[in-house]
Amino acid sequence: MTASIPTPKTGTPGRRTILHVDMDAFFASVEVLCRPELAGRPVIVSGDPSLRTVVSSCSYEARAMGVRSGMPLARALRLAPGASVVSGDHHRYVTCWKRILSVMLSLTHRIEPVSIDEAFLDATGLPMAPCALAELLQRRLLDETGLWASVGIGSNKLLAKMASKRAKPRGIRELRPEDIVDFPVDSIWGVGPETARLLGGFGVKTVADLAAFPAQRLRIMLGMAGESLYFLCRGVDPSPVIPFYEQEPPQSIGHEHTFARDVLLPGEYLPALALLAQKVARRSRDEGFAGSLVTLKYRFSDMSTHTRAVRLGAPTDQDQVIFRAVGRLAGQCVKRPVRLLGVCLGSLAPSAGLQLPLFNRSTHELNRACDMIRRRYGEKAVTSCRTISAVRR
Ligand SMILES: [Mg+2]
Repeated sequence: MTASIPTPKTGTPGRRTILHVDMDAFFASVEVLCRPELAGRPVIVSGDPSLRTVVSSCSYEARAMGVRSGMPLARALRLAPGASVVSGDHHRYVTCWKRILSVMLSLTHRIEPVSIDEAFLDATGLPMAPCALAELLQRRLLDETGLWASVGIGSNKLLAKMASKRAKPRGIRELRPEDIVDFPVDSIWGVGPETARLLGGFGVKTVADLAAFPAQRLRIMLGMAGESLYFLCRGVDPSPVIPFYEQEPPQSIGHEHTFARDVLLPGEYLPALALLAQKVARRSRDEGFAGSLVTLKYRFSDMSTHTRAVRLGAPTDQDQVIFRAVGRLAGQCVKRPVRLLGVCLGSLAPSAGLQLPLFNRSTHELNRACDMIRRRYGEKAVTSCRTISAVRR
């Protein structure tokens, strides 16, 4: 008797090994690392301390009390009244993320970061069993950064991502196409609440239900999305891992601020704009970009949201240049009370190859020095005097 060799289905590429690494409660865990007294407590990270802002990350202790990312902070504090609220420090997360990436780079260069706390690794052909590799990576990350990651393993990105979600926290999980048949249909990429409701109306609740659904009807109901769902619900996802060095630069870098109460006067909103310009400029410098399109976003009390942009003569990554531009735009646009302001730098290009003529040497050096101080003592360390001087100018 000859052993039967399983042959891949026609049209599927050779078997791949994809890892999805997702840091556990990343922002909250980084904050706990910096403040060990917060360990074991419910911790909520938010954009700013205003009660009208939302939760950007929370510890598992806060999650156990019902707190979720994206939830209004006021509601989160009703669920977890004793939680410590920490205002996030994006720079600190970027610094940690760079260390995480360098640990991953010790295993392979084929890394596709998806956001600041998750990445796909293409481990196809590496001389280690996928599970052993995932364990090694998880342990190295913990040793070198003090942070826990969950790792999902699959023969494609879809399965790896579904696996990491089910591995959380601190776990490792592998999923094969046959493992996902009983999963709810909205656990598949591209099935949002709307599509899930639509499919639910036809009795489609699980991945298996979707696989049994006539392809023709799926295509009519959902168009192109229906076609990709046909494959995804069979655990087939040919999308490649695109290494970071082959990716397009970000479209824009932005931050926004929700005021505790609506504001109208320049004296009320300029300090916030100065802080936003500072955050945007600093992130641009961190990520090595300069931009020439500065956009002000403003939301009135009635929740209507608008933007106004100005193109600079040359790209910049400097706080003062961005602040002057948005300050002028706000002077033109803020004619009624606003509840939110945002600052965005677009038309980005790598700053290394650019001549940046618009600032003098001393300003540039001042900003570099401030970056160093904030890196050491936190985001607000040199904020207050800058925002005050911004208002006086
Ligand atoms: Mg995460």
